[in-house]
Amino acid sequence: MTDYKTSSDKLNGRAALVAVSKFHPYEAVLEAYEQGARLFGENRVQEMREKFPPKGERPDGMKVFLIGQLQRNKVRKAIEWCDRIESVDSLPLIDKIEKEAAELGITMDVLLEFNSSGEEQKSGFRSEEELLEGAGYILSSCSHVRLKGVMTVGPLGGDDVKNRAAFSKTKALYDRVREIADTVDTLSMGMSADWETALEYGSTEVRIGTAIFGERDYSRK
Ligand SMILES: *Cc1c(COP(=O)(O)O)cnc(C)c1O
Repeated sequence: MTDYKTSSDKLNGRAALVAVSKFHPYEAVLEAYEQGARLFGENRVQEMREKFPPKGERPDGMKVFLIGQLQRNKVRKAIEWCDRIESVDSLPLIDKIEKEAAELGITMDVLLEFNSSGEEQKSGFRSEEELLEGAGYILSSCSHVRLKGVMTVGPLGGDDVKNRAAFSKTKALYDRVREIADTVDTLSMGMSADWETALEYGSTEVRIGTAIFGERDYSRK
């Protein structure tokens, strides 16, 4: 928790902070909340549901975003609980969210994830054209999905030149998406190791885990 204040002070109103609480207990979430954090990120649907109270029963203003890859069979459980899905990466997934949100009578906010580094193991739309097709599909065919923006995870390893190339590409793509949809206001990029660089490229939201909560203990799960 030590760096939380430093991180949020440095952000200085330039971007929203999503505190990524995966692998950390709800007590840590509440501690960050008391210090001013309101937006939280979780990777897995089950962990999110076990950790956070349901929508409507959380402390004032607390929101939870799903930032990890989502399987279609978990969409219902995800949208019942989260305030936004930031990792939408295919047309079939968009379709499924539309269908389940319609059934629940809600509108789900989403970000489309872009695989800006081209790394095989990364999720996200593989090309600008595919992501734009996804955006167009939401606008033309989905009345229960609201397009809020674009998300990316920078290259593994944190090489500065590669980071800048990935963030620059994603910013250009974000600008194109923003041209076609007036609901779009979020460019989510930047994590503990690269958020300062991401801000240089116009990030409006950083997702910070380690720098706020400390190292994750993967043996816990
Ligand atoms: C875990 C995770 C983060 C936070 O990573 P840190 O390096 O701990 O800041 C951000 N975004 C996504 C998609 C993640 O899975």
